[in-house]
Amino acid sequence: MKSVILRGEDKFYSVGKIICLGQNYAEHAREMKFEVPASPVFFFKPPSAIIHNGGQIVLPEISNDVHHEVEMTVLIGEKGSHIHRSAALKHVAGYGIGLDLTMRDIQLEAKKKGLPWSLAKGFDTSAPVSEFIPAETVGDPGSFHVQLLINGNLRQSSSTDKFVFPVDKVISYISQFITFEPGDIIFTGTPEGVSKITHGDKLEASLLDANKNNLVSLSVSVE
Ligand code: MG
Repeated sequence: MKSVILRGEDKFYSVGKIICLGQNYAEHAREMKFEVPASPVFFFKPPSAIIHNGGQIVLPEISNDVHHEVEMTVLIGEKGSHIHRSAALKHVAGYGIGLDLTMRDIQLEAKKKGLPWSLAKGFDTSAPVSEFIPAETVGDPGSFHVQLLINGNLRQSSSTDKFVFPVDKVISYISQFITFEPGDIIFTGTPEGVSKITHGDKLEASLLDANKNNLVSLSVSVE
C-alpha cells in the first residue's frame, strides 16, 4: 500500500486513484501535435507507480524514450461526487509536485493503434510525488508555478494560470462520473518542454507560489 503525507499534520493518506490530465496546457498539446480538448481528458496510473522524495526511477528496458512531465499534484481529502464547481476546492487536502513519467515511444505506438496508455504511463516508479502542502496554508492553486531542473539545468517552467481546465473545473467535471475519495491524487498536466531522461540524471521538481516562493520540492534520480 502506498501512502503520502500532508506536511505539518503528521497525517498519512493511503493512495487511492491517481487521475492524470492530458493536454491541460495548450503549448504542450501543440508540441505533442494533440488538439486542445473541449473537456478534460484523463487517464489513470496505479498507486504502485508512486515513489517519494529521494527515490530512484527505474527505466523499463522496452523503452528508449522515457520522458519527464512535471505537474502540480492535488491530494483529495474529502469524499464527493457530483461536486459543484464552487465547492470543488473544499475537497482538496493539499497541493504538491509530481512527475508523470511516460514511455513516449510506447505511448505513441499505442496512440497510433488506438490502444490504452496504461503501460506507457503506469509502470513502476512512473509517479514520483512530493509531500503535500495543506490547501488552507497556500493561495489560489491557479496562481502557482511549476518547474523542473535536470542536472541543475532548467528544463520545464510554467504557471498554473495557463491550465486549459483549472483545478475546480477538473474536480467538478470528473466527479460527475467518478466518486473522489480521500487519498486520491490528481496530476494536473504538464507544460511544454518534455524530453528524454537517461541513466544517472538528477531531477528536481518544485511547486512555487504566486511570489515564486518555494512551497515544496521533489528530488529523484534515474538509476
Ligand atoms: Mg502528464
